[in-house]
Amino acid sequence: MKFDSLIIGGGLAGLMCGIRLAEAGQRCVIISRGQSALHFSSGSLDLLAELPDGTPVNAPPEAFEALKQQAPLHPYSLMGAENVCRYAADAEALFARANISLQGSFKQNHRRVTPLGTQRATWLSPQEIPIAPLPWKRITVVGIAGFLDFQAELVAGSLAGQQLDVRIAELTLPALDVLRNNPSEFRAANIARVMDMPEQQSLLIEELKTLAGDSEVLFMPACLGSEDAQAFRTIGSQLPCALRLLPTLPPSVLGMRMYNQLRRRFQQLNGLMMPGDAVLRAETQHQNVSAIFTRNHGEVPLRAKNVVLASGSFFSGGLEAKFSGIREPVFGLDIHAPATREAWCHEDFFSPQPYLQAGVAVDESFHPLRDGRPIENLYAIGSVLAGFDPLQQGCGAGVSVTGALHVAQHILAAQEVCA
Ligand SMILES: Cc1cc2nc3c(=O)[nH]c(=O)nc-3n(C[C@H](O)[C@H](O)[C@H](O)COP(=O)(O)OP(=O)(O)OC[C@H]3O[C@@H](n4cnc5c(N)ncnc54)[C@H](O)[C@@H]3O)c2cc1C
Repeated sequence: MKFDSLIIGGGLAGLMCGIRLAEAGQRCVIISRGQSALHFSSGSLDLLAELPDGTPVNAPPEAFEALKQQAPLHPYSLMGAENVCRYAADAEALFARANISLQGSFKQNHRRVTPLGTQRATWLSPQEIPIAPLPWKRITVVGIAGFLDFQAELVAGSLAGQQLDVRIAELTLPALDVLRNNPSEFRAANIARVMDMPEQQSLLIEELKTLAGDSEVLFMPACLGSEDAQAFRTIGSQLPCALRLLPTLPPSVLGMRMYNQLRRRFQQLNGLMMPGDAVLRAETQHQNVSAIFTRNHGEVPLRAKNVVLASGSFFSGGLEAKFSGIREPVFGLDIHAPATREAWCHEDFFSPQPYLQAGVAVDESFHPLRDGRPIENLYAIGSVLAGFDPLQQGCGAGVSVTGALHVAQHILAAQEVCA
């Protein structure tokens, strides 16, 4: 099987890169072993919320120069401030083409309300997420009876501290009783499957109308709309007040929906998805990847002009921490990591953890190195990369998205030169 580009990993980075390449007419395949970080994420995408020295960031474009001084190996520093801004703007347009409706702009962070009722700086959020400053004074936070992954009392407690009139209420929908009987099944994704059913929506609307009272807005756990925002819009349009959703503990309906929408867009562009398959090894010749071997295809090689490694960090198995050190398992690429095992973790749990900055070392075109030499048709993107801390710097999705478009541009530019 031959492709223009073969992408290893179908998380945010792999899908964004695949969509951009497929939009330009490339024949692309994404091979992805399992769920990605999106399935566990808030659904909001961070670009840059804090510099390594702890300075908060309001306007990312104004902070990239300072970031370069403090973190020269950060993927943004390698791409350059101007490029990062251009790719961020392109990404906003790409999300719109994929029918993903988001609020926010790369020029200015906004503050989203978290599942704890606190606020956190981010780049793009689903339209359903409430963002500061809240335009309402009377809020009802609606929990779902028996659903432990969202605590209405916690949210209400934090909001009440912000001079708001906050009440809590509990939703009981008979159709949820079957799930409730088995607490391990009573999760956001399963609840959404029930609440998304058109036949449940009139009951849900009636229940929410009763709970609304004289509130200006209802905050509910994000258990609606795994495929798209239609159920949210239908229900919201029939309530006497506004409706907003707050992320729950994973699995995340808002993240899963973004994954589903990106995957659909890629497939509509004739991209080939191979979910549930895993790349096990690769052959290289003359500093080029010549064949990829996967679990499902056995000894049948997959070949592509370009290969993009988007296999994620430790969480997704793109990086492995062994007793002997941190490694990238498919190609055995060079890794940037703290020199000794003792230096991987900081003893204060709440401090930035050095292991989070470990990853694959790349040059400015995001070519990774092996034994100090670049592999010419191989690129690496997303959280497999070294040099950034997605938690402390609030930049996880931004690195995945902008890096994906950076690599897509390099691949397409090289294709033009060859044509
Ligand atoms: C739990 C969690 C929550 C997060 N929440 C947020 C958030 O709310 N906002 C934010 O901005 N950032 C968040 N992040 C940061 C996150 O890393 C990025 O936002 C981004 O989603 C990472 O995307 P990725 O494509 O680089 O990697 P991943 O999403 O990890 O995807 C990698 C994919 O590669 C696959 N894979 C790995 N090895 C192979 C192989 N050998 N063969 C085939 N497939 C393979 C994996 O199965 C996985 O599907 C979160 C991270 C984690 C871990």
